[in-house]
Amino acid sequence: MKPARFDYQRPRDLPEALSLLGKASHSSKIIAGGQSLGPLLNLRLVEPELIVDISALAELKVAERRGDELVLGACITHADIEDRRVPDVTRGAMQKIAADIAYRAVRNRGTLGGSLGHADPAADCISALAEFGARLTLRSSAGTRLVDIDNFIVSALESAIRPGEIIETIHVPALPASAQWGYFKSCRKTGEYAHAIAAVVIDPPAGTARLVIGAIEAAPIVVKEPFELFGGRIAGDYKERFDPCVADAILARAGIADAAQRHIHVNVLKRAIRGAAA
Ligand SMILES: Cc1cc2nc3c(=O)[nH]c(=O)nc-3n(C[C@H](O)[C@H](O)[C@H](O)COP(=O)(O)OP(=O)(O)OC[C@H]3O[C@@H](n4cnc5c(N)ncnc54)[C@H](O)[C@@H]3O)c2cc1C
Repeated sequence: MKPARFDYQRPRDLPEALSLLGKASHSSKIIAGGQSLGPLLNLRLVEPELIVDISALAELKVAERRGDELVLGACITHADIEDRRVPDVTRGAMQKIAADIAYRAVRNRGTLGGSLGHADPAADCISALAEFGARLTLRSSAGTRLVDIDNFIVSALESAIRPGEIIETIHVPALPASAQWGYFKSCRKTGEYAHAIAAVVIDPPAGTARLVIGAIEAAPIVVKEPFELFGGRIAGDYKERFDPCVADAILARAGIADAAQRHIHVNVLKRAIRGAAA
């Protein structure tokens, strides 16, 4: 199939893009890398009157360390991260995760902002950014607001973006020196979206951890105080203390009724925890 007719604009700067998106008379869609929007247009699952191509906006390609966080523009591609063309504050975690997304051709064009905007729960960067506790700057002609990643994904393919808003930047906090990270995903075929993702940051000296269970057909489950999973405390022996029965109960409480699905997610979580390293 071919897309329905649409107007196309390629603004030169962010204010021009926001002005185009803010025009209430248009049903408009942003396009960045086009890796998700392209198929949706071709299948006529979306039929916008106007497409605003943000791929030329220099403001959305920033990549700089500001204090103890990394600020990445929404048009940074997965390949930019994979190839280390941007700084890293996660000790290689984001690079490794980006390199395992889909195929190189997809990574060359697919952007962080596009992955977040599309809000597919199986997208790697949604679980990864939840793992690190990232925040997003959303900008419209009316101003900006900063949203925690935990509040950004509302449900499958639904995010907190309001009409006329654009994801401008993603703020990734630096991983503490004592923290360890782990990431594991289960895919039916290499290069395909995962059907289970687990992403963990565990800091034994600080006694803290943040666990993310993703690709669950809803917003990822973020466990910010997972003490019960480790027998009540996070310490150096956390890998041995991990209790799969407690993980299963957390997933059941979160509404995953199918025991087979829970089994897959628990084992993916176990592997992410086992693989966690500094
Ligand atoms: C074959 C294939 C396999 C894939 N496998 C994986 C995988 O395993 N893991 C994974 O994580 N991803 C996977 N992807 C997705 C891919 O990695 C892209 O990140 C994703 O398609 C979106 O990026 P994009 O820049 O192409 O967005 P687009 O397709 O341009 O846009 C996607 C959506 O986001 C909106 N949008 C784009 N930019 C912004 C912005 N700055 N602000 C607000 N809204 C915005 C658009 O309006 C649209 O609704 C796969 C894609 C393909 C085609």
